[in-house]
Amino acid sequence: MDKNGYAPSIMQDTVFEPYCYLCGANSALDKLDRHEIFGGSNREKSKRLGLWVLLCHNDCHIFGPLAAHNNASTALQLKQEAQRRAMEAYGWSIEDFIREFGKNYLED
Ligand SMILES: [Zn+2]
Ligand SMILES: [Zn+2]
Repeated sequence: MDKNGYAPSIMQDTVFEPYCYLCGANSALDKLDRHEIFGGSNREKSKRLGLWVLLCHNDCHIFGPLAAHNNASTALQLKQEAQRRAMEAYGWSIEDFIREFGKNYLED
């Protein structure tokens, strides 16, 4: 866990060659932000469990039409992928995931 409370991401490599999880860009044109996939009351848990990704600040994180904070289907897609990764990485069932995050984001 780093000094800001982030465990290493289990979604992507963020150390050796940081890139945007959504579009693959590096930070040459736009800085990369950390995005906690589960926000609100689950934000700290997202950080602690490595459920965060790097996103281009403008296009992919905040302002673009498909940005995670601007587009419900992008946000849902990230949550579904994060749920799958968390279940895999932590050996959780769907019920275990619901116990942690209050909701199942996967389709039946
Ligand atoms: Zn991007
Ligand atoms: Zn964010």
